[in-house]
Amino acid sequence: MSDNSAQTPNADLVSSAYSQALEVIAAVEPRVAEATRKELADQRSSLKLIASENYASPAVLLTMGTWFSDKYAEGTVGHRFYAACQNVDTIESLAAEHARELFGAEYAYVQPHSGIDANLTAYWAILAHRVEGPWLKNAGVKNMNDLSDADWEKLRHEFGNQRLLGMSLDAGGHLTHGFRPNISGKMFHQQQYGTNPETGLIDYDALRAKAKEFKPLILVAGYSAYPRRVNFAKMREIADEVGATLMVDMAHFAGLVAGKVFQGDEDPVPHAHIVTSTSHKSLRGPRGGFILSTEEYAPSVDRGCPMVLGGPLSHVMAAKAVAFAEARTPAFQTYSQNVADNAKSLAEGFLSRDAKLVTGGTDNHIVLLDVAKYGLTGRQAESALLDAGVVTNRNSVPNDPNGAWYTTGIRFGTPALTTRGFGHDEFDKVAELVVDVLSNTEAGVNKAGAPSKATYKLADGMADKVRGISAELLDKHPLYPGLELS
Ligand SMILES: *Cc1c(COP(=O)(O)O)cnc(C)c1O
Repeated sequence: MSDNSAQTPNADLVSSAYSQALEVIAAVEPRVAEATRKELADQRSSLKLIASENYASPAVLLTMGTWFSDKYAEGTVGHRFYAACQNVDTIESLAAEHARELFGAEYAYVQPHSGIDANLTAYWAILAHRVEGPWLKNAGVKNMNDLSDADWEKLRHEFGNQRLLGMSLDAGGHLTHGFRPNISGKMFHQQQYGTNPETGLIDYDALRAKAKEFKPLILVAGYSAYPRRVNFAKMREIADEVGATLMVDMAHFAGLVAGKVFQGDEDPVPHAHIVTSTSHKSLRGPRGGFILSTEEYAPSVDRGCPMVLGGPLSHVMAAKAVAFAEARTPAFQTYSQNVADNAKSLAEGFLSRDAKLVTGGTDNHIVLLDVAKYGLTGRQAESALLDAGVVTNRNSVPNDPNGAWYTTGIRFGTPALTTRGFGHDEFDKVAELVVDVLSNTEAGVNKAGAPSKATYKLADGMADKVRGISAELLDKHPLYPGLELS
């Protein structure tokens, strides 16, 4: 049983808080109140398998709706560009303290607005620490403004000529890890590492060889669609061998780190110089980002706002403090272990029905299904599943023959439904429903009658049948049980 299958704490209070809040909103713009009600109903009635989504607690959600939103607080705790930040200082210090304790980090910066913002802030912190600092020292000046215009141009050139090595998008990396069209692929000379085409696993020897040849300033580890654990001790060894800063982006799997499912070599915090993350995925907090670092990098990380980031979202920082406090409880560790166990159940459910999985399984919270054997693209599979009330997202598989738009994979994640209390039997049923939908979907043709990568035909009656069975599962494990809007 999962920790969250019980009644929502303070369900009556939460019900009246939201009912009244919606009344206040409806008095100004009823359509917003209505869409907000409908969003809850929709989330309650769909099988959410999107690997990057979750359901935050009412305490976390309620914390975001306050007057902290009205406050400007550029700068850092005790060192603000704005007056009257004493209460923001309180909540930012609390969020950072909880983050340090939760992850065993030397330093925590909780201002980034999202995972992408955290990565951008981290990149500039590394450039400040490794390029700007030594440059200014060499030039014998303290401050960039003291450089001559000619020297400033030289320094700008240095910033723009650094190297970054990250995991490629189609191997499961993130856009911000050096994908060419992303800002990270433009601000750095970039190269990418992938996975072994046979096994689908990261090939550390190939990665080491590439790092030795390319000599990156930054080695980025972390992923959005890799269904396996990473050895961060080995990553650090490789970074040290080539003098790179190791940055780990744990946006997806932070909950498994917080919940102590990933320990030792699989815990990025003791091994990386800088760790970036979101707070809203497996960590189950508010939508946002944060950075953990060593003392060495802390002064550079602190310059995030206002040098890279806009003013901090104080209401969200307050919610991060609440979510990190929740993640420090034994119940969260149980939850995280359930997330990983449930991913195994889902993978076994697929394999026992002859489905093909990238890497042949999972040992984190992600399962990546290759849909080629059903004669479908990822896009067709995603749409057919959605018609049946199963919410997933299409995803590339390594060396995807259909490219990044149509793709050949469907990515599943267990964090959200585990929050609802789904366990082994429910995830096995989910695998059965998915295979049933895909086996009963045919690829369509375009207007000219040629095979299409987008259109499809789901067998008559399938959508209703699957929706009926999912509704039973969802009714057994309600979202926010006891929360009723009047
Ligand atoms: C989701 C994700 C991000 C981006 O997070 P946002 O909050 O959407 O900006 C960055 N890196 C990785 C690895 C992710 O999975």
